[in-house]
This record gives sequence, C-alpha cells and structure tokens, in this order.
Amino acid sequence: MTLEDRQREFAKRLAQSRYYSNTSDRYSTPLHHLFEMAPRFEIPKAEPLRPGFRSPIACEAITVVGAPLAGGGKVTVLGAEKWQRLHLSKTRLLAATAPVLRQVVACVEARLMALPKLSDAIVVLNSVEHGLLQPGEKEMLWRTFGVPVYSQWLGLEGETLAWECEAHQGLHWNRQAMELEYEGGQFLVTSLLARRRVTRRLETGWNGEIDSRPCPCGETAPRIRYLRSLSVAPDLEALHMAACA
Ligand SMILES: [Zn+2]
Repeated sequence: MTLEDRQREFAKRLAQSRYYSNTSDRYSTPLHHLFEMAPRFEIPKAEPLRPGFRSPIACEAITVVGAPLAGGGKVTVLGAEKWQRLHLSKTRLLAATAPVLRQVVACVEARLMALPKLSDAIVVLNSVEHGLLQPGEKEMLWRTFGVPVYSQWLGLEGETLAWECEAHQGLHWNRQAMELEYEGGQFLVTSLLARRRVTRRLETGWNGEIDSRPCPCGETAPRIRYLRSLSVAPDLEALHMAACA
C-alpha cells in the first residue's frame, strides 16, 4: 500500500469518528479530550490493530508488559497489572511502558521482587497515554538491570510510530505510520495505521529535535532525538485511571 493509499484510508476512518465528523483539520486535538471523551474517538465496529512487537535486536525470550500488542512465538504479552509475574519468567528482553518499568525498579530496589534475569535489553514503550521516561530514569534502568535500554514510540493501538536502533542515535520515524508536526512548542502526532482509536494532530506534550542525517545503522528516515515531556511530572496515568474508573 502506498503512502497516498494509506492517507486516503485514514481520511475515511476519520470521517467515521464522532469527534472528527465536525472538527476542522486546522485544529489540533488536545490530549485531555482523548481521556475525557474517549468514546467519541472510537469506531466501535473496527477491530483494533494489535500488532506484534518490533524487537530492536534478535532475542529468544521477550516479555511485553502494559502495551496492546499481540504475543506469540518468542513474545509473551502481560497486562500492566500482571507485572509482578515477571520474576517467574525467563525473559531476556523486557519491553514495558514507563509506569510499569518504574514499578519494577521500585520493587527490585526495595527487595520485594527478585531481579528478572534480563540478559539482552530493556525496551521502553513510550506513548501519549503512558508518557515518557523522565530525565535520569534511563540511567536508573541501566543501573538496575545492566542491559542496553532502547526506546520506542507506540500509537494508541500499539503500532510502532518510531523506534530506536542499536546505534542509539534517536528514534527512527516510521514515515509509513506517522505524520508528525511541530506546533506551539510540541509535536502533534497523527497515526495513519490506527483503526479503532483514530486521532488527528494529537497534542503530545512532547518536544525534541528532528535529525534528517542518515543514521550510522544505514537507515535514512529522519530521527527524532532528545524526545522529552514538556511537563516535569505528567499526571497522565491519573487521568487515564480516572477515565477507566
Ligand atoms: Zn539507526
């Protein structure tokens, strides 16, 4: 499917969403609308995407926690509330949202949980719903687990919008999946792949830099570097919990 086909398909889905049926594309979508008016963004008939995990490295045993991804083969997927089962697992690579990783580290440091025997990597699954790591937290993961830490940017249905390679020089922008704009000091994101939770020009509350130089790994797509949250302590998790209550 070409990018133009994808954009056309996306426009059709957008027209089915109650939120966008009478909103001009000149406006960005405030993030709090997504939590406060969640049903208006959903296309109930559409199946969510639920893609597989895109591992940055070859790995034999992967556990994903707290993200809407499909398991199978080498990949086990646990809901966010099941993270305590990790200590029983033989996982070599742990991929999880920032809030889950914070809980794991807190429990390991308080000796409430034995350290999972991670040997390969940690992958931080960033999303507008679960937020980003705060400054210093990547180093904290490194100190706790002693394995390389990779970042990815996932959309609302788990689709990979941007991913970090072994060069660790920023996140490769998946141009087939994501339109990214910069406005009012923050990124606005549009995921062309979402099927059920469709959003356009969603305010992320994040900024960073776009680097168009080729990556040392050979990829030529622009990279998103220094991705950071504009608020020091985003209360997105509380918003999300309130919306789910
Ligand atoms: Zn690269």
